[in-house]
Amino acid sequence: MIISKLIKINNSSALHRLKYKNLNFIRCFSDEAGSHFDIVIAGGGMVGTTLACTLGKNKTLNNKKILLLEASVNKPWIKSDKYSNRVVSLNPGTHKLFEDNGAWAFIEQHRFHIVKRLEVSDALSETSITFGKSEHTDTISYMVENDLVLEAAKNEAQKCNNLKILYGAKVKNYVLPDYHSDVSNIELENGEKFTCDLLLGCDGYNSSVRKAMQVDYVSWNHNQMGVVATLKFSNKFDNEIAFQRFLPTGPVALLPLTDELSSLVWSTTPQEAKRLLGISEEEFVAEINKAVCGPWKQSSTVLQATSAFDTLLRALNCSRDHSRKRPPKIESVEPGSRAAFPYGFGHASQYIRKGAALVGDAAHRIHPLAGQGVNLGFGDVACLNKVLGEAVYSGSTLSDLNHLKDYESARQKHNVPTMLAVEGLHRLYNTDFAPVVLLRGLGLQATHALEPLKKIIMAQGAV
Ligand SMILES: Cc1cc2nc3c(=O)[nH]c(=O)nc-3n(C[C@H](O)[C@H](O)[C@H](O)COP(=O)(O)OP(=O)(O)OC[C@H]3O[C@@H](n4cnc5c(N)ncnc54)[C@H](O)[C@@H]3O)c2cc1C
Repeated sequence: MIISKLIKINNSSALHRLKYKNLNFIRCFSDEAGSHFDIVIAGGGMVGTTLACTLGKNKTLNNKKILLLEASVNKPWIKSDKYSNRVVSLNPGTHKLFEDNGAWAFIEQHRFHIVKRLEVSDALSETSITFGKSEHTDTISYMVENDLVLEAAKNEAQKCNNLKILYGAKVKNYVLPDYHSDVSNIELENGEKFTCDLLLGCDGYNSSVRKAMQVDYVSWNHNQMGVVATLKFSNKFDNEIAFQRFLPTGPVALLPLTDELSSLVWSTTPQEAKRLLGISEEEFVAEINKAVCGPWKQSSTVLQATSAFDTLLRALNCSRDHSRKRPPKIESVEPGSRAAFPYGFGHASQYIRKGAALVGDAAHRIHPLAGQGVNLGFGDVACLNKVLGEAVYSGSTLSDLNHLKDYESARQKHNVPTMLAVEGLHRLYNTDFAPVVLLRGLGLQATHALEPLKKIIMAQGAV
């Protein structure tokens, strides 16, 4: 009886699987043929939705059925004068991906802000480094609200005929392929069931796909939280510089949104974050102005040594013109825009296994001090899109491990050094121990003086 049901299914991949006599397999194929997809993307956050739209628009994959499952309900982005407190800095590599998949047009039509320079300073040594040209000619990054990034990707995804999106679709259980089966079984909390040839886990740092894949995952908490808010300056100006100042409790960053607004990401201890959320708006503004520009207790030895090193660099003609800019005074905080988010580090030792791959925060999670987290995820999207296109073009199956391995090795080669560098910076700046403050101050001055080194750092962060 089951066999007769199987034969009714007019699906070549289903017939191919007839050779396996396995309970798992029977369970999958006794379902309706309509519940089988070539690719299922679990998680429709910024990364999952962008992946869906990019794969959906890949001409080589246009006969592949794709399903995107997102646990939360669909909340369309509505433009308002109010800016969201969740903003990301998108690097040039991400900008290219969004231009290629068509989603950038939507962002461009609505709003984004270009960052042309990045000023990073250390409150404990007054050393600093500048990225980007002083004439503000090159684009370092693009500031866009998270919800707008999501809406832009969703808008393009909805144009793809081979893509189905289900909202309010929380996955309860995954059964991944084994010796006897080469499909994944997916069960939603509402009881709906799907099968697929390739399962892509884009379900964030608590990824259930990763758990089902049983890959090793190295993770720790940073014991830090990011306090975010939308800030207004006391006057309008050419707001093209992102400022980041390292305090002993963590970096405070101002990311430009308009000529009078910036987005705040203030990384600090959980206790301090709780306090900053609880104080009045006036007190909060006073604290930010102090954190961004105010004096900090500095060691005289550190100051003398860094000043002497600067003199030496000038004598060697290495010191770059250093016209350090400071932001104008912050006047107010957008009411209700304050919130805090936890930080952590995590990395999956494998991004792939038979019939499944991890993408975005599901595979790697980093401290946002360098604004790289989702950019790494978008880099995964671009790479996976290329690899899957090549696999299908060459006649391989989507779940062919040889192709998936190309994805894993290319991305780990990029992600691991970036993650280690960001984690190293976090640890280096998370102390007020004078010898460390001195060493990092000297390092910052030397890096600032060495333009080729800065170019390498920028290039790593740009893709
Ligand atoms: C304060 C702060 C500032 C940041 N700034 C930057 C920045 O400037 N630049 C940058 O590159 N990165 C930044 N990041 C990092 C960035 O926010 C993350 O890397 C990014 O949100 C990860 O996106 P994702 O789609 O991989 O995961 P998520 O955003 O976690 O999305 C996962 C999705 O999966 C869904 N999901 C989960 N489980 C299930 C399930 N069982 N069934 C169905 N759906 C499920 C969730 O509902 C969610 O929509 C910042 C992070 C923080 C905290």
